[in-house]
Amino acid sequence: MARSYVHEARRRVGPKRARIVPIIERLLAAHPDAMIALRFRSDLELLVSVMLSAQTTDVNVNRVTERLFEKYRRPEDYLAVPQEELERDIFATGFYRQKAKSLRGTMRILLEEFDGEVPRRLDELVRLPGVARKTANVVAAELGEPQGIVVDTHVRRLSQRLGLTRHDDPVKIERDLQRLVPREFWGIFPHLLIWHGRRVCVARAPRCEDCGVNDLCPSSRV
Ligand code: SF4
Repeated sequence: MARSYVHEARRRVGPKRARIVPIIERLLAAHPDAMIALRFRSDLELLVSVMLSAQTTDVNVNRVTERLFEKYRRPEDYLAVPQEELERDIFATGFYRQKAKSLRGTMRILLEEFDGEVPRRLDELVRLPGVARKTANVVAAELGEPQGIVVDTHVRRLSQRLGLTRHDDPVKIERDLQRLVPREFWGIFPHLLIWHGRRVCVARAPRCEDCGVNDLCPSSRV
């Protein structure tokens, strides 16, 4: 019974290849302000903000970096203080010991291998300590060169509800999305799903009646 209901819903909305561009266009219209919520003024500040955002909110990171970036302006600055001092300065973002260690390791590599600049290629970014694929994807996209699609908890939930993937594993979801989403939208697409996920397609009780893509969504309750 459940299976035939799902099948019927999928049939009603049509194949995902035909739905993906209309979904993107409508979400763009609904969330013109969808963008990264972290505040930064340089490539280095972007990288540090994204590294600090693991396991905490963007609002919390912004609160910490407002002061942090006044004190630490160049990669050298992160290495010029004792690790404990850096730990204190990022304490409020949580996991501060690990994050301080990763930041210092990253700054060392930036100086030794990249002339103090933030690299733009994904394979180079993931070599930095504490920079996993998701962090690298966020940084590359914000630098204007997306090479993958960021999959966080909102992107995972919405991709599943919208019938864009049947997977649960972020790596497999990203692979499905890369095949489906036109490349020019790789950078903005996660932001659209994140903002739609925060405002409309919320985790517990999605507001399908207010959703601009409900006729394109196999999980719609209306
Ligand atoms: S129709 Fe409902 S489940 Fe589908 S994307 Fe919109 S809010 Fe989410």
